Amino acid sequence: MARTRTPVVSGWFTEHPATEADFHLIGTRCRTCAAVFFPREDTCCRNPRCAGTELTGVALSRRGRVWSYTDGRYRPPAPYPSDPLLPWRPYTLVAVELAAERMVVLGQGAPGVTPADLRVGREMEVVPGVLYEDAERTWTTWHWRPVGWDRG
Ligand SMILES: [Zn+2]
Repeated sequence: MARTRTPVVSGWFTEHPATEADFHLIGTRCRTCAAVFFPREDTCCRNPRCAGTELTGVALSRRGRVWSYTDGRYRPPAPYPSDPLLPWRPYTLVAVELAAERMVVLGQGAPGVTPADLRVGREMEVVPGVLYEDAERTWTTWHWRPVGWDRG
């Protein structure tokens, strides 16, 4: 039986992209001061000098540059989903700076991307990813992958 594809957090990214190029993180933009927020802010602008309350969804840039990176060598506690009976597989964590939005967005590296593949300033793109699978569901998320990456 096919697993249901379920976003880890609903509303933070394109849930059913037709192609990778259609996949975006989704933030919100304040209509008063134009500040962009991710994770999305839907109630009040977080800019302390702005009283804006109208925030609209906005697709974030698909590409940015590595701001920092590391790897996760220990199993995070719940609610991070992982099976304690399986060996822990380290993953790469990447902070990517989006120039247009002037923000840094964290995410896991795509499968196969290790810290040895990264350097500060390397161009990255956001791609659909899988965080975890259980018997019924595939939990979807976003991954960062170097532009031009050809190892999968
Ligand atoms: Zn504002």
